Amino acid sequence: MSTSPLPADRTDRWQATARAAGLLAADGTVAATIFAEMSALAVRTGAINLGQGFPDVDGPDFVKQAAIRAIEDGRNQYAPGDGVPELRRAVAAHQERHYALAVDPDNEVLVTTGATEALTASILALTGPGDEVLTLEPFYDSHAAAIGMSGATHVTAPLVPGPDGFRLDVEALRAAASSRLRMIVLNSPHNPTGTVLTRDELAAVAAVARERDAIVVTDEVYEHLTFGAEHVPVVTLPGMAERTLTISSSGKTFSFTGWKVGWLHGPAELVTAVRTVKQFLTYTSGAPFQPAIARALDDDETPRALAASLAERRDLLCSGLEAAGFRVTRPAGTYFVMADATDLLPRLGLRDGVELCRRLPELAGVVAIPATAFCRPGSATAQALSAHVRFTFVKREEVLREAVVRLAGLREA
Ligand code: PMP
Ligand code: GLN
Repeated sequence: MSTSPLPADRTDRWQATARAAGLLAADGTVAATIFAEMSALAVRTGAINLGQGFPDVDGPDFVKQAAIRAIEDGRNQYAPGDGVPELRRAVAAHQERHYALAVDPDNEVLVTTGATEALTASILALTGPGDEVLTLEPFYDSHAAAIGMSGATHVTAPLVPGPDGFRLDVEALRAAASSRLRMIVLNSPHNPTGTVLTRDELAAVAAVARERDAIVVTDEVYEHLTFGAEHVPVVTLPGMAERTLTISSSGKTFSFTGWKVGWLHGPAELVTAVRTVKQFLTYTSGAPFQPAIARALDDDETPRALAASLAERRDLLCSGLEAAGFRVTRPAGTYFVMADATDLLPRLGLRDGVELCRRLPELAGVVAIPATAFCRPGSATAQALSAHVRFTFVKREEVLREAVVRLAGLREA
């Protein structure tokens, strides 16, 4: 998919957005996101889609029934701009129950159109030209796109693969944090690496944020999808409550990615800033879904069961990838695994992970995402991860078994 180029002297925000997400070609044409491209490839070729991360089993029936009831009860007009009161209360109760956080549902919570809107509205509200915004690298694509949209400068600190998984390079983090640092966008559990940041790593981030007086926006959409590792919200660290916006979403936790019900919480003045922007992005959305997700948030068993079943599916896919010739970094959270194809590429006559992903449907009937899609084009991290590809394991066991059988064919290819 591409649109016709505009004259090169134009500096429209959409171009900055596309460039920041690595989607703008030198000739001015713009590509679809890697998720859209790879999902379309899967549909076109009939390959098993282990690219875009969405579950192939819906969330619980009682949540669906609650949404149906809400529609029948007439909750079909605009919800309040902040979100329906029962969902704001459920978010506050969830944060208190899981993390002992005291959150005021009336002034410190904002319901958003997924985590995506929470992220973009936060970045647009609080950063602009001249500011630096630091993310980990690799990073989730929308983080970079929103920084591009705001006009701020994107700087990164790498997660480096090693025996303990992908770990934060704390020295690089400190070096990247200049006096112009305005915001750190964190993501733990981390997409695409599956890293769950340790308390020590988070303490290093918190120290930098305090030193530079930066705001921390933390994307915790996979907070419940961990496999033995402890998820520590950065807002619980000393001195962080006054500078942190914590974001999550029902899409991942309850397997309703299409409902796009997300939220954020933080100090009232930061939430007011984000609300000011958010109200002119969507104003509000998902009126009947919000009360249903309020019901879901009271239920801790569904996410616990999902995490337990994902741990088994992770092991199934990781073993299959190893048998197929990949080197695998076992994720401690999320539903993604990074697989290093360094040993496979020469045998397949391929240059890198991008080529592998374009050819994988034909070679093995499977779709994955190249790790460089989560990096700045040409960065040191992009080079280091040029042979890595990301697979998702949030698919039914029989689908993963079939994928593993197909991938085993790569060894003979
Ligand atoms: N952040 C991360 C790290 C994600 O992986 C995703 C996508 N699932 C999102 C945000 C977007 O969440 P939502 O669908 O709630 O907008
Ligand atoms: N978060 C999903 C992933 O990482 C994709 C969502 C999207 O397509 N934007 O696969």
